[in-house]
Amino acid sequence: MSIPITPLDAWIARRLEDGTPGVGYSAETLRPVDRKTLAAAQERALRVLVRHAAANAPFYRERLRGLEDAPLRELPFTFPSDLAGAESRFLTVSQSEIRRVVTLATSGTTAPPKRLCFTDEDLEATEEFFLHGMVTFTPPGSAVAVLMGGTRPDGIGALLKRGLRRLGCSVHVFPLGEPPAATAARLDEVRPSVVVGLPAQVAAAAELSHHAPRVALLSGDMAPPSLRRRIEARWGCRVFVHYGLTESGWGCAVECAAREGCHVRELDLLPEIVDENGNVLPQGEWGEVTLTTLTRRSFPLLRYRSGDEGRFLPECCSCGSVLRRVEVRGRLPRRGAGGHLLRLYDAEEVLWRLPQVRDFALSLSGGKDRHETLLLELVVSGEDGDIAAKAVHALRALPGIPPHIVVTQHFGPVPERPGPKRSWGDACVLTEDRSGRRIPPSPSPHPRGGRS
Ligand SMILES: [Zn+2]
Repeated sequence: MSIPITPLDAWIARRLEDGTPGVGYSAETLRPVDRKTLAAAQERALRVLVRHAAANAPFYRERLRGLEDAPLRELPFTFPSDLAGAESRFLTVSQSEIRRVVTLATSGTTAPPKRLCFTDEDLEATEEFFLHGMVTFTPPGSAVAVLMGGTRPDGIGALLKRGLRRLGCSVHVFPLGEPPAATAARLDEVRPSVVVGLPAQVAAAAELSHHAPRVALLSGDMAPPSLRRRIEARWGCRVFVHYGLTESGWGCAVECAAREGCHVRELDLLPEIVDENGNVLPQGEWGEVTLTTLTRRSFPLLRYRSGDEGRFLPECCSCGSVLRRVEVRGRLPRRGAGGHLLRLYDAEEVLWRLPQVRDFALSLSGGKDRHETLLLELVVSGEDGDIAAKAVHALRALPGIPPHIVVTQHFGPVPERPGPKRSWGDACVLTEDRSGRRIPPSPSPHPRGGRS
């Protein structure tokens, strides 16, 4: 059976034909996006963005002087640290036009938080992407549960709801951070065919709900393959993955029916993969995901270094679209014990393989190398005295793991979420996750830090 082409393709094809941002979902048949036309449109958008940023954003004024016509790879990078306490230097519209400000902590440093600003137009662009990305697995009229709610009128739950209502869907937005048993009870009541949520949150609900949706979309954090398989096995559903970060306007890339990497919304975001020295890497090589916000004029980001490790998959997907696909593993590795690279996502992968593990938080403390300690807070099902030992054994087999591992274990059903697991890098883990939700200070339950 042939795999249907990603609906992002028709959305972008229509925008390329019309020369307009494109509003509304349409199932009309268009010629698929061709790479040459898309690349030309990206180049035009980039030139407009560079001139706009140079003229209107104080941060870029000096940096882009004389570079208005330079190729992308010669433009300067923007780092998360550039954003710390400097949002007004990126803003190119008046404060009155800002609809939403998102504050992200810069962990591991004393730098002020990062703030990102979004206008109505920016939020509508994200809503459009959400709508078209969801069409892959959400037939019109479906019941959808979004486990990423919040009280904000422009939060992720609200944007998804607005988008999906245009498909005639009934959308139920659940509070973020409620206990898994409460989420499971709501799922049993609402009986959605599609569930959208953070990977660990969805996995915890899957353990407890009687109702099994047809599809789960994992967003807001990385989804290790073992966690994905666990949800698929528990619910017998198909699991899709979305990748995004607040800096990309939450939405960035989502899987099509082939489920072989996430197609990027390339008319809005120009992705690159670069090595640690900033050299652009060829297709297939792992490096840092770097994004340029092609159509976001209010708060432009040029060659923004995400801190996430990813790679491009071959250009033509088996769905037939040439839209670029990224595979993202997690935060970039760092130098760990013995000089080996420490990959947190590998630790997550092996921990989720242990069936008794219901949730966990990982963090590093102390000095570097042999003085460092890995703190593991485990939530396990039942009184299995060996599970902590099994977890430590699995972690010890990974390169770069510190010699000291401290495990705290909680038994029984997930009582509440362990704390943020990432204690390094510049990711926002302390005050807000990448899904844009502000994490309240303890003792309120909060989700794992991560991406959207
Ligand atoms: Zn595809």
